[in-house]
Amino acid sequence: MRLSRYFLPILKENPREAEIVSHRLMLRAGMIRQQGQGSFSWLPLGKRVLDKVCRIIREEQDRAGALEILMPTIQSAELWRESGRYDDYGKEMLRIKDRQEREMLYGPTNEEMVTEIFRAYVKSYKDLPLNLYHIQWKFRDEVRPRFGVMRSREFLMKDAYSFDLNYEGAKAAYNRMFVSYLRTFTRMGLQAIPMRADTGPIGGDLSHEFIILADTGESQVFCHRDYLSLAVPGANTDFSDDSEIADIVKTWTTPYAATDEMHDEAAWDKVSEGDKVSARGIEVGHIFHFGEKYSKPMGAKVTGPDGKDHFASGGSYGIGPSRLVAAIIEASHDDNGIIWPDAVAPFDIGLINMKAGDAECDRVCDELYAALSGAGKDVLYDDTDQRPGGKFATADLIGLPLQVIVGPRGVASGEVEIKNRRTGERETLPIEAAKKRLG
Ligand code: ATP
Ligand code: MG
Ligand code: MG
Ligand code: MG
Repeated sequence: MRLSRYFLPILKENPREAEIVSHRLMLRAGMIRQQGQGSFSWLPLGKRVLDKVCRIIREEQDRAGALEILMPTIQSAELWRESGRYDDYGKEMLRIKDRQEREMLYGPTNEEMVTEIFRAYVKSYKDLPLNLYHIQWKFRDEVRPRFGVMRSREFLMKDAYSFDLNYEGAKAAYNRMFVSYLRTFTRMGLQAIPMRADTGPIGGDLSHEFIILADTGESQVFCHRDYLSLAVPGANTDFSDDSEIADIVKTWTTPYAATDEMHDEAAWDKVSEGDKVSARGIEVGHIFHFGEKYSKPMGAKVTGPDGKDHFASGGSYGIGPSRLVAAIIEASHDDNGIIWPDAVAPFDIGLINMKAGDAECDRVCDELYAALSGAGKDVLYDDTDQRPGGKFATADLIGLPLQVIVGPRGVASGEVEIKNRRTGERETLPIEAAKKRLG
């Protein structure tokens, strides 16, 4: 992508409304545009990151056996009356009427709708286990939308829903999502800690929140230091092996970890002082086992091997991709801007032409752009006529992992410079060597 043809509305000044660094940097880097209270458009740079985050989530959901669907954002109140949640949900739910005065709502979550799909088609235990997920916009009329996309009213959610014959099956499904989440967050360069959590309006008796430790987090959390060094399961994890998956969950739930609401002082006292981590945290994912909470009132039954009807045992599993983009920035930035982990960087390489219009600089940049793009790299080529200082500031602000700097002096001796955004290390290389290194 040539920057001269891109839409990257960089802000020079720090936006006054932004209280936390991720919000500030997302606005400054031209990733998002606020459209109303708790409502944001995703501009090209932001959209690329959001897509990369979603792609990782999809790959890990699929690996764990979940199947992607897409459900509507607008739901009927009738459906929510079946579960009893229409009246219970409260003011966070945006209630709407259509032209026939039918009561509708903008979905804050989809347990009812997916249960309706399930009960329409699935009649036998032989069709289980089943886990359906989608990535869709949600609306929650938050009391205090703030911190940009971290707590917005309209936000993207990946929500998965599992259906099993009994508790044992449902627990195995829960475990698969648990392990899938560990892999998902690690791939984004994040250290997420699963913590015993309250179930809130989703309901149920078993629940973990996945928390990123950060000073700007809204939750108070408590965990054992061991979590900071536990090994995350690899890509070869066998999701069809229930006992392998259960062992991983056991390892990741044995040391103490709980959010404020579930904090148990007696158990915490048993952790040695040096191992106690008491910190602020950002909730990026949340998984629930709720058994028959929706299947029973909504009549979602399957015939078991015993020939009898059983209400499906369910769970739901959420991740906030839009919140995650902000959480990644909270975890990875410096005074100059964002530092993207490779896997979610909007482009792999920033190619900086220090003197656009200079025939030799243009020629070398064109050559590098073609070679690196041809090697499958996403390159953002700064071919604008801005001064070098401004180009460097932009490159650091938007945080691409590698910068290739092409200037008249280097080009005269057949060399370019490569800068690593994270370490700040710079290296001068012959052009051919740079192509090999980066391609
Ligand atoms: P919170 O405690 O932050 O209000 P929640 O517990 O209400 O979140 P869940 O119902 O567990 O949220 O939804 C699953 C995920 O959706 C959360 O873990 C979070 O990543 C994301 N999420 C929830 N609310 C928001 C929001 N207002 N803005 C952005 N992401 C959100
Ligand atoms: Mg909430
Ligand atoms: Mg919560
Ligand atoms: Mg939650």
